[in-house]
Amino acid sequence: MPGPNPHELWIESHEPPYQVCLQAYFWTGNNGNRQARAVAVLRRLARRDWFCRWCGQDLPDWRRADARYCCEGCRKRAARDRRIGREGGGR
Ligand SMILES: [Zn+2]
Repeated sequence: MPGPNPHELWIESHEPPYQVCLQAYFWTGNNGNRQARAVAVLRRLARRDWFCRWCGQDLPDWRRADARYCCEGCRKRAARDRRIGREGGGR
């Protein structure tokens, strides 16, 4: 497994049974959000929805629970693609 995760949350298993782990920080008293995020990611995994809308790769563990693209590059390429499509420049 990769080193320490900056967001204290990682996907343990991308296959059923899906498993998302989170590091508990009891002293912050802020586990609610992190747990909600873990649950959201887990739901998307179960729906097979945890992948990049552009390149189809699995999203990195540290992406937001509502992320749609694996990286800025994909997000921008998708946005550009959408824009071109709208302008009808289908070359
Ligand atoms: Zn991507």
